[in-house]
Amino acid sequence: MTLKNKTAVITGSNSGIGLGIAHELARAGADIVLNSFTDSPEDHQIAADMAKEHGVSVRYIKADMSKGAECRALIEQAGACDILVNNAGIQHVAPIEEFPVEKWDAIIAINLSSAFHTTAAALPMMRKVGWGRIVNIASAHGLTASPYKSAYVAAKHGIVGFSKTTALETAQEPITCNAICPGYVLTPLVEAQIPDTMKKYDMGRDEVIRKVMLDRQPSKEFATVEQLGGTAVFLCSDAAAQITGTTISVDGGWTAL
Ligand code: NAD
Repeated sequence: MTLKNKTAVITGSNSGIGLGIAHELARAGADIVLNSFTDSPEDHQIAADMAKEHGVSVRYIKADMSKGAECRALIEQAGACDILVNNAGIQHVAPIEEFPVEKWDAIIAINLSSAFHTTAAALPMMRKVGWGRIVNIASAHGLTASPYKSAYVAAKHGIVGFSKTTALETAQEPITCNAICPGYVLTPLVEAQIPDTMKKYDMGRDEVIRKVMLDRQPSKEFATVEQLGGTAVFLCSDAAAQITGTTISVDGGWTAL
């Protein structure tokens, strides 16, 4: 499998799942555009290290995915976008009647509307070169719900629907669009929640992971960023050319329950 001469733009990719997917696409030979809303020396160092490790071009472009114009500017600045991975996402947990309006707006903007803007900007580029792959990072929460995650669940169900519409609008072209639905993945974001949860439930680390975090994940194991990267690489392969408008769950059986 080679993605040589393809350019992949991955939103929200200076940590976690986005960074893991970027590594696997680079390992497969793609040139990479990393993104987040910060512009720190560390962001550029991640790009330099990835370029060195995989022998591909890696650029870091700052753009705030909560702002439509910046989403579109990211794709324009990338100059090419054969593979688009819409990954940037945030979370907030609260009952609906207490859910802060600004958190609702931010989650819908970053987790859902950004994909509309990047896709709108990338499709003409994909059509010009006659090839494209769009991979949207949804969630098990794109297929099922949990209490207190109203904005996240709405946005993730929304991105699954948006992926289907994108697939239908490109169905007769060599462009596909699919959504990956991860269960719990041990990213820095999730790792950071473990100490507080240990205190809250007076449990050890392993007990918190098995009984609290992986309560709904039948495998009782986290999915890994490498597995998600591998799934994205598969969706970019020739074998996946007729896979479009669907979801692939990487959730240890969560949505089989
Ligand atoms: P993370 O916090 O490590 O990564 C989120 C990324 O988005 C970071 O790179 C962050 O800088 C970026 N980001 C946040 N706001 C942004 C903005 N305004 N503009 C640009 N970039 C922004 O978290 P993660 O766990 O790697 O999550 C990545 C995606 O995977 C999200 O869409 C999340 O909903 C989804 N997901 C995560 C899990 C999990 O268990 N970790 C499970 C299912 C789905």
